[in-house]
Amino acid sequence: MLYNLTDVFTSPDITTEQVMDFTRDEYECDGQSYEIVKKEPVHLVFSNIGKGKAKVNGHCAFSFAMQCDRCLKDVTTEIELDFEYEVKSPETEMTEEEKEEQSFMKGYQFDADEVINNEILMKWPMKVLCSDDCKGICPVCGNNLNDGDCGCDSFVPDPRLAKIKDIFNANKEV
Ligand SMILES: [Zn+2]
Ligand SMILES: [Zn+2]
Repeated sequence: MLYNLTDVFTSPDITTEQVMDFTRDEYECDGQSYEIVKKEPVHLVFSNIGKGKAKVNGHCAFSFAMQCDRCLKDVTTEIELDFEYEVKSPETEMTEEEKEEQSFMKGYQFDADEVINNEILMKWPMKVLCSDDCKGICPVCGNNLNDGDCGCDSFVPDPRLAKIKDIFNANKEV
């Protein structure tokens, strides 16, 4: 959703609050699509902080359907966003760097969806686990080891080490 900030840029000390619903139900990350299972309305506050300058504060929280990296169990991960940006009116003089930093501004309009997408990406977890001590999946039979031990001999020896062991055993027999 786009918010026109013309009034905020031109009216000293004005503060306006907006509540918006993030319309998307899915989030794309690394070529994968994640369902948004829960979302709070997005609260946005726009404040004038000088001639042609505004501050944007935002808060919201989303829950995504993910999978445990070790055992593939379904996990719901909440990501809470709290952001603050200072933006300038397009009439104000800006360096190239400043323009780039507020690339989510489309002229006088603040692109809330673009900011929220970027903020989610920045907070995206590097690792998703159902619990810190998740035991993962048995490499032999595929059993979820959190449900109990399957009894497989999951020790897969390095073939080079196995050879040394053979030699060792052979010598012992002599
Ligand atoms: Zn797990
Ligand atoms: Zn097993």
